[in-house]
Amino acid sequence: GKVYLNGEFLDPERARISPMDRGFLFADGVYEVIPAFNGVLFRLDAHLQRLERSLAEVSIANPHDRAGWRRLCEEMVAANGGGNLSVYLQITRGVADKRDHAFPDPPVAPTVFLTSAPIPVPAADSLHQTRGAAAITLADTRWARCDIKSISLLPNILLRQQAVASGAVEAVLLREGLVTEGAASNVFTVHNGEVSTPPHSARILGGITRDLVVELCREHGIPVVEREIPEARLHDADEIWVSSSTKDVVPITRLNDRPVGDGRPGATWKTLSRHYIQFKRRLCGL
Ligand code: PLP
Repeated sequence: GKVYLNGEFLDPERARISPMDRGFLFADGVYEVIPAFNGVLFRLDAHLQRLERSLAEVSIANPHDRAGWRRLCEEMVAANGGGNLSVYLQITRGVADKRDHAFPDPPVAPTVFLTSAPIPVPAADSLHQTRGAAAITLADTRWARCDIKSISLLPNILLRQQAVASGAVEAVLLREGLVTEGAASNVFTVHNGEVSTPPHSARILGGITRDLVVELCREHGIPVVEREIPEARLHDADEIWVSSSTKDVVPITRLNDRPVGDGRPGATWKTLSRHYIQFKRRLCGL
């Protein structure tokens, strides 16, 4: 496979970045993960819109216009053989000549890096999808701008690792008694067939998959409300789901070692998941 670095497609071992890059020194950058199925980038414009917003929020000059980003992502998919893969895209503030928290003055060119990874099993066929997965709740220890897709992921890493060490796949995060999101996913609950997910705010990343799930619920008459989820509502939910671009919508059937609902993927998840797969097939010609 090839990676892209500052204007060139390269073999990964030929890609070189200075240790003075502010991504390395400060995690001063933003990123995106865009899935492609059957070689078709899924919800590309929504991802690029979020990238543009992340860049603007941290005042990194956007090195490409929308059409430029689109072309670059498509070239990346082609350079890696198409199929099912995720494109990882990172932009840092660039390489400065000294380590100083304040932005380099005059500004330097941002560093642009793309790489890709296969999405091995179609998510819909994975065991997590058919049997459900386990999650644990943890206190949300992150900063106050979780709406920015920042590469500063140390809290997310520590939270996810704590989940994995306890035999779970995801941490469901709680801040001031409310569910925010997962360590790398958005969270949904279902009560009596009605779906809830926290509204967009600085406390969560506006997930592209989350937005699509809300859209598909509305389109297919599944009741859905964007509202805060108090901790107690999480624990008495009939169903819990987590969503992300590379894993789609995963039913959480155990929370803190107790079954969620009857401990099996729920009826509302089955309906939504069917619509989600249909939508993907239609768009990507699977
Ligand atoms: N929330 C966080 C913190 C994430 O890191 C991610 C993605 O990895 C998501 C939510 C889900 O976002 P998306 O559906 O756009 O992949």
